[in-house]
Amino acid sequence: MTEQHHVAVVGAGPAGLFGSRRLTEVGFAVTLFNRDIKPGGLAEYGIYPDKTKIKNGLRSQFQTILANEKIDYLGNVRIGENRDLRLSDLFQQGYDAVLVTAGAQGVKKLGLPGEETKGIYHAKDVVYHYNQLPPYSMMDYQIGRHVAVIGAGNVMVDIARWLVDKQGLDDVNVLVRRGPGEVKFDRMELAFIAHYIDLDALDKELKRVSTITTVLGQAPTALLDMVKSCIKPENAGKTRPAIRFYFLTSPSEFSGGEDGWLCRIKVENNTLVESQGKIKSHGLGTFSMLEVDNLVFAIGDAVDEELGLPARNYEYMVTETPRYPIEGLNYEVDGSDVGLPSTGIFIAGWSRQSSYGLVGQARKDGLNGAEVVIKHLEHVRPNSAFSTPIIRRADVVNKQDVSNLVKRECEMAAQLGLESFKYKSNEEMLSAIR
Ligand SMILES: Cc1cc2nc3c(=O)[nH]c(=O)nc-3n(C[C@H](O)[C@H](O)[C@H](O)COP(=O)(O)OP(=O)(O)OC[C@H]3O[C@@H](n4cnc5c(N)ncnc54)[C@H](O)[C@@H]3O)c2cc1C
Repeated sequence: MTEQHHVAVVGAGPAGLFGSRRLTEVGFAVTLFNRDIKPGGLAEYGIYPDKTKIKNGLRSQFQTILANEKIDYLGNVRIGENRDLRLSDLFQQGYDAVLVTAGAQGVKKLGLPGEETKGIYHAKDVVYHYNQLPPYSMMDYQIGRHVAVIGAGNVMVDIARWLVDKQGLDDVNVLVRRGPGEVKFDRMELAFIAHYIDLDALDKELKRVSTITTVLGQAPTALLDMVKSCIKPENAGKTRPAIRFYFLTSPSEFSGGEDGWLCRIKVENNTLVESQGKIKSHGLGTFSMLEVDNLVFAIGDAVDEELGLPARNYEYMVTETPRYPIEGLNYEVDGSDVGLPSTGIFIAGWSRQSSYGLVGQARKDGLNGAEVVIKHLEHVRPNSAFSTPIIRRADVVNKQDVSNLVKRECEMAAQLGLESFKYKSNEEMLSAIR
């Protein structure tokens, strides 16, 4: 007989971790299921590796949360259809509510000819690779000398930074559907690549598109001024004209060479149209070719449809009318169309809005999601038939394992004289902690 509520939280990224902590504050027992051995999600495996200060700060906050005795951690466990446990299994075990904070693990497809050509990658996979998340850490992402990146946000900046800084490339072509006035990256991130931007090429490109952008009231040189002002004094001597922007440019077709490897992208020229206060791109039907060896899509992620929640347009579907909205946002999912309960399922973080915001935003959203769970459970008696799920696999990790792993990796870093050290595979991690 149990008198406390049990909540299953799926995903131990920032949203799930901070959300779990909030749930324990009102006395709930939380089981935190996580696909990866280590907690942290994109804070561990997304944020650029060199940002050690923010990463270490977050790691230590996550360790403190995991130490909470009301949180049980089951790492290396995947929730979803045909996986370790289905969402329906969690309700069968007697969890009173499920909060899904599994991030956005799917990719967006544009449906263009040749999109599956070898050498085309999605930013998340590349980011997981360089941040050493198994199995991406062990995959061979071959990079040629000429690379295109599609996107205009902070993730594009990270990819361009990695290509120039770590891969030594001199030819990174950033394709942007809209114009220089609609870029989404911020100054702080831009500062990491500003000294690698080809300023002459940028100047020419801004002049090329200025007939369109000035009509919209945009200052033609605004982006050039911003880039110049973002070059940090310590990087002034390291300038390298490696990154070039192509605005008002959308891919329309990808072609491989004889070896099947990407060699050419057909791109369409766009114009901009203002509609209902938004600036949208519109294809002009004129095309040109770009010769490249690789393309990286940095256009945002999609939710994982195999998790078992109803999904549409890359997002999970929320109920038509939320019972407990927070700041006008809906965290509630009706699972009845997919064989799950109609109430008791909640989403937060990047699972609620894919690719939206930084860690601070995911934290806030996880806390909000937890708040909605709390409101819902005020009216629900704890399920007296609750029992902890048993997963019959030896490689499921608990919080003691995680703490051993963190300690072991710190020791390895000290031994090797590195700022940080990460085991590359799950097998290495497991043998280091057991
Ligand atoms: C390339 C990149 C760089 C970034 N850089 C920064 C930065 O510098 N600063 C900053 O503040 N923010 C940065 N962010 C944003 C930040 O990482 C996100 O805001 C935040 O991590 C989102 O948190 P989340 O908990 O919603 O999802 P995630 O962090 O994605 O966490 C999801 C968790 O769910 C788990 N999971 C997934 N599927 C399942 C499943 N089926 N079963 C069980 N568990 C599952 C995963 O293992 C993971 O632990 C960056 C993001 C990216 C993509």
